Amino acid sequence: MESIKDITNEILKCKRCKLHLTKTNYVPGDGNENARIVFVGEAPGREEDKQGKPFVGSAGKLLNETLLKFGIRRERVFITNVLKCRPPNNRDPLNEEIEACIPYLYRQIMAIKPDVIVCLGRHSSKQVLGFFGEKFRGITSDRGKFFEVMLNGKKIVIMPTYHPAAILYKPQLKDVFEDDIKKVAEIIGKLEKKRTLFDFF
Ligand code: SF4
Repeated sequence: MESIKDITNEILKCKRCKLHLTKTNYVPGDGNENARIVFVGEAPGREEDKQGKPFVGSAGKLLNETLLKFGIRRERVFITNVLKCRPPNNRDPLNEEIEACIPYLYRQIMAIKPDVIVCLGRHSSKQVLGFFGEKFRGITSDRGKFFEVMLNGKKIVIMPTYHPAAILYKPQLKDVFEDDIKKVAEIIGKLEKKRTLFDFF
């Protein structure tokens, strides 16, 4: 089984799509290789592109504060994006860019084998649910739902929620976003008491 380090090294040399020409830094992902939770956003923004790390701008600050509020420690988490290079001016990812880059995300998920995948926003929700053969019906209808799927014989859950950037733009969504993260914290809290996902569903 390949490691996160192997995948990162490959990403850092990638020229599979044109975004490698316009990015400042690749943003492969950051966190614990044995994380219980993987957060997946859409693509690096300006600050992420500058630093080569995911979720370090204002949306990342909001995510970190929300995780802390519900006791989710950063060392339990791995954070990445569907795209590992920033689209110019933060435009939406093109289909060909997603197709070129998405295998890295799937390989990261297979390498980490988390208990929970939290999809931040519609792009990551569509791609991650699609990988597991689940249909994404839109962020409004699927937000906060747990999708139970199997990953190499292990039961895991996927939960779509809003992207933190959407919360900055529409602060009225903050309560539901926090409710979603709280639900994830509850699952992880129970798992840390040595129970398994089979006990909850
Ligand atoms: S966005 Fe992904 S596929 Fe495109 S160059 Fe960057 S790492 Fe490679």
